[in-house]
Amino acid sequence: MRGPDSAVRGAVVATLRLLPRVSRPLTVAMGAVMVASALVPTAFMLVSGAVIGTLPRAIAAGPSSGAADRVLVLIALAGALFALQQTTGPVLQAVAAALGRRLTLHLRRRVMAASVLPPGIAHLEDPALLDKVAMAQGVGAADISPRELAIAIAMVGSRYLAATAAAVLLAAFRWWLPIILVIEYLLVIRTFRGEFQKSAGVLVGKAEEMRRSAYFRDAALTPAAAKEVRIFGLGQWVEDRFRDSFRTAITAVRRGRRGAWRLMAWAPALFFLTELFTFVLLGRAAVRGEISLGQFTVFASAAGGVGMFASLSQYDLFLQYGAPSVLAAIDLERITAQPHIRLSGGRSSAGLPVHAIRFEAVDFNYPGQGPDRKVLDGLHLEIPAGKSLAVVGENGAGKTTLVKLLARLYDPTAGRIAVDGVDLRDLDPGQWQQRIGAIFQDFVRYQLTVADNVGFGASADVDGDALKLAAARAGALDLVDGLPVGWDTVLSRQFSGGADLSGGQWQRVALARALFAVERGAGVLVLDEPSANLDVRAEAELYDRFLELTEGLTTILISHRFSTVRRADRIVVLDGGRVVEDGSHEALVDAGGRYARMFGLQAARFAP
Ligand code: ADP
Repeated sequence: MRGPDSAVRGAVVATLRLLPRVSRPLTVAMGAVMVASALVPTAFMLVSGAVIGTLPRAIAAGPSSGAADRVLVLIALAGALFALQQTTGPVLQAVAAALGRRLTLHLRRRVMAASVLPPGIAHLEDPALLDKVAMAQGVGAADISPRELAIAIAMVGSRYLAATAAAVLLAAFRWWLPIILVIEYLLVIRTFRGEFQKSAGVLVGKAEEMRRSAYFRDAALTPAAAKEVRIFGLGQWVEDRFRDSFRTAITAVRRGRRGAWRLMAWAPALFFLTELFTFVLLGRAAVRGEISLGQFTVFASAAGGVGMFASLSQYDLFLQYGAPSVLAAIDLERITAQPHIRLSGGRSSAGLPVHAIRFEAVDFNYPGQGPDRKVLDGLHLEIPAGKSLAVVGENGAGKTTLVKLLARLYDPTAGRIAVDGVDLRDLDPGQWQQRIGAIFQDFVRYQLTVADNVGFGASADVDGDALKLAAARAGALDLVDGLPVGWDTVLSRQFSGGADLSGGQWQRVALARALFAVERGAGVLVLDEPSANLDVRAEAELYDRFLELTEGLTTILISHRFSTVRRADRIVVLDGGRVVEDGSHEALVDAGGRYARMFGLQAARFAP
């Protein structure tokens, strides 16, 4: 049982170390209030003991005696302490919550940075890592945020301090008594926590199942799937799947809790016997006159106070469930900082390529896929700088994969990609990615302003001309002018004053984004079928326009339609993970191979 318990302890220690970094003043304040909230009840015990100790003498001496005055003063003091005791709890909660909110923000930012920093994306497809991300966000841990964890640390911590103070008081009666009590209480509570920890561990193991149930929940609640959920009548189905996967995850947890239930049956009996023993000791000492009435009162309440070692509240659960998320966040940072995820390379790629990019005997399979599932298989391909190249092939031929490797979202499994003779793995990955402007088939429709969709933070005032130029070249300027507040219009109906665009309009915005990237230093442009929802003729027009706009740049056009890319300087046909035909449109048609056949078939459909 040491494992889970020490894991929580490790997480609590890690959190405690983080707190001063998040806010030193709030951490100091929290510590001070914790100590106060532990000492005030102890002081209250002492003062009430003194009241009861003095009371018989005061009664005997009469209401105008000095003893009676002393009792009144003590009662006033007890009242003040009582009032203070009532306020320390809420104040501690508030301070811890303020600190915890900052902790949440701090960790979220670290989790985001850790997820975004790696230049590659392989880690985002690794289920184990995705579980860590989910955990780090508190999702896998019953939605307990670091904020609640901070509150729990404060509350549980102050409870232990108060219990320790009570134990010190009780030691004045029999030094060994609190030692026995504390050991017994801690052992029982440790067993208890161990049981709960086990079920928390089960929940951690079920993070994937939890993510699945969250996916179904989101399908029902968010607009993304709203259309299909209705049209295909998926409502009930989504709801059932949500319930099933949630149940699978939670049933295991419930099973894990059985031990805790058993424990709950015998622990109270043990506690009862212990308290009985303590009070018999105290009562006997009082009857024999070994301790006064006042001392009896103080020791009796101290014995009760030591019992706080054995109490479990919701805050203990917050500790159990919340702590793993902090460790996961820290872990995530460590994992994504690993060299194979961070990707190697530090050489500058400014101005590259001047001559050519060469794929040399490149093999690739996606992470987690067996070596027999090569997507690229000994691929040789030279992409000359300043020219246009079209890559055509059936769906699934590996065209997008080729672009992902070029953009260094993945590294080849074997072989190498060389830019002007330099291995891509030796170039600074972040800087190289800035050299690439790509529009993918699933390009992102950011729910941001048009200006941000094109320029990402380039202000319309500062970079206005560049933005306008990019939009004009992409044929998007009229569209922007027609929007309610021009460049500042948010492209989503989910925000007030927002506007929704048609598929074709979105394409123009994406095209403007790629052209703006050229202004910002991108030298290699890729158009990876953002036109899949256009008809053949419109796609051909889009590609022709793109080629005109990017004349003199290194451009790569991807299409599964052989008939839309004939204006490219050079065309390669991809099949089985390698290049099977290579040449200009005319040369390929003359060669009478697959290109010629497919071109003939597809072009016939839109021949005038
Ligand atoms: P194309 O762009 O030519 O249509 P892709 O490069 O998208 O082809 O895909 C090539 C093959 O790789 C397909 O069999 C596809 O299923 C597989 N694939 C694509 N992306 C992934 C991924 N992230 N993980 C595993 N397999 C993938």
